[in-house]
Amino acid sequence: MTEGTDMRHWTIVAAWCLLAAASLTKADAQQPGEAARPTAYLGARLIIGDGSAPIEDSAFVVENARFTGVGQRNTLAVPPTAARVDLTGKTVIPALVDGHSHIGYMRNLTSGAVNYTRENILDHMHRFAYFGVGASQSMGSDFGELPFQLRDEILAGKHPDAARFLTAGRGLAPLVEISPDNMRQAAFPVTTPEGARASVEELVPRKVNLIKTWVDDRGGTIKKLTPDLYNAIIAEAHAHNLRVAVHATDLQDAKALLRAGIDVFAHMISEVDEELVTLFRQHPNTAVLSALGGPHRAVYAPWLKPVHPLILETVLPEQIKRLQGRFPIANPEQFARSKAAWDRLARGISRLSAAGVKIGVGTDGGGQQGDQFIGWTMHTELENMVMAGIPPARALEAATRTSAEILGLADLGAIAAGKSADFVVLDANPLDDITNTRRISDVYLRGRRVDREKLRAGFLARQR
Ligand SMILES: [Zn+2]
Repeated sequence: MTEGTDMRHWTIVAAWCLLAAASLTKADAQQPGEAARPTAYLGARLIIGDGSAPIEDSAFVVENARFTGVGQRNTLAVPPTAARVDLTGKTVIPALVDGHSHIGYMRNLTSGAVNYTRENILDHMHRFAYFGVGASQSMGSDFGELPFQLRDEILAGKHPDAARFLTAGRGLAPLVEISPDNMRQAAFPVTTPEGARASVEELVPRKVNLIKTWVDDRGGTIKKLTPDLYNAIIAEAHAHNLRVAVHATDLQDAKALLRAGIDVFAHMISEVDEELVTLFRQHPNTAVLSALGGPHRAVYAPWLKPVHPLILETVLPEQIKRLQGRFPIANPEQFARSKAAWDRLARGISRLSAAGVKIGVGTDGGGQQGDQFIGWTMHTELENMVMAGIPPARALEAATRTSAEILGLADLGAIAAGKSADFVVLDANPLDDITNTRRISDVYLRGRRVDREKLRAGFLARQR
C-alpha cells in the first residue's frame, strides 16, 4: 500500500467516524459531499471553466451545496471541521450544461409524446447527471403541467440524483410544422402576430427561462414562419425580459433574425460568410448553440464500433444496433453530401468562435433525428467542437460557463465561491484529449455525490 492510499484510507476511516457521530444526533446520515458539513476536495487539477489555465494541486471547499473557497492546496484556508477528500491524480471540471435537448420523448426504440411521463423525464434527468451534465435545456417540446412540476421538484432537492431540468415550455411554431408524430405537437400554433404575443404571455407566468421558435422551410417543403410573426414573438418576449431561441440554420434566415434581435440560435448555422460575422459583431449578446452532433455522426461515429462502455451501460442493445445500421452511411453520394455539410459547419463554427461570437454547447439530445442518446451526446459534442478546430479549453468553456450564461444560470458553469457545487471528477485530463471527459470517476450535484452505481443498475433494469 502506498503512502497516498494509506492516507486516503485513514481519511475515509476518519470520515466514517465523524459520520457515525453525526448520525447519533441527526436522523439522516451524512457522507462526504453532503450539504450540511463542509468538505474539502484536495489535490486535483482544477479546470475552473472560464478558459483560464488549470490550477494544479488545487483545493476547494463545499458547504451547504455551494463552493465556499477555491484555490491552491498550499494556500487555501480549509475549515478545521471539514471532511477531506483526496483527489490527487484526478481532474475536476464544472458540471457540463446542455443548452439544447428534447426531454421525455425518447424511450428505448420509440420516440413520441406517448413516452412523455414523469418516470421518463426523471429517467432522462438521471442520465444527464450520470454523464456529468448538471442542467439541460428542453427546447420547446414540453407540454402540460409535468415539466414545471419536475423542474421545481428538482430545484427543491426532491430528486438528488437528477440534473436540473430547464424548460421553455411549449415552443411557438407555424401550423404546418405541427404534427401529432413530431415534437412540435407540443407547440403553440402561430398564425397571427396577436396570437403569437398571446402565446408568449401564457408562458410568462410559468417562469420559462426562454422562448423557443422555429424558422425552417424543411427543405422547401413548407412555408416557414414569416418575419411579422417572429418579430411579434421577439418583441413580446423582450417586453417580459425573456430571450428567444430559434431553430434556423439557413444563412439568409440567420441574417434576418439577427437584424430582428434574436437572442439564441439553437443550432449552428449551416454556413458562415463575412456579412454574418459582421452582424454577430453588431449583436454581441446573440449566442449560438453548437448542435453539431446530428450532422457529424453521419460521417464520424467511432464510438459505435467498438461501442463505448458508457453507451453499453445506458442504452438498449437493439437501439445501439439500429444506430450502427444507419452510420456510417453506405451510399457514397449521400456520404459525400453529409461530409460536405459537416465540413461547412466545422469551418463556420471555428470562424465564429475565432471572431469572438458567444458559442455554447447544445446537443439536440433526445431529438427526432433518432438515437441521440441522452447524456452521451454531450461528450460527442465536445469532441465535435474540437474536431471543428476549437481548442479543448474553449470547448470546455463553451459547455460550462458560456452555456450557463446563455441559459441565465448564474450559479452554474464554473467552480467559484458562491456557485452551486456541481462538478465532475475525471480520471484523465480533457485538455490533453477532449474524449477524456468520458472518463468519469464521480459526479457531484448541489454538493452531493451522485449515486452512479445505483443509477447504472436502474438503467440496465429498465431496458428489460
Ligand atoms: Zn432541437
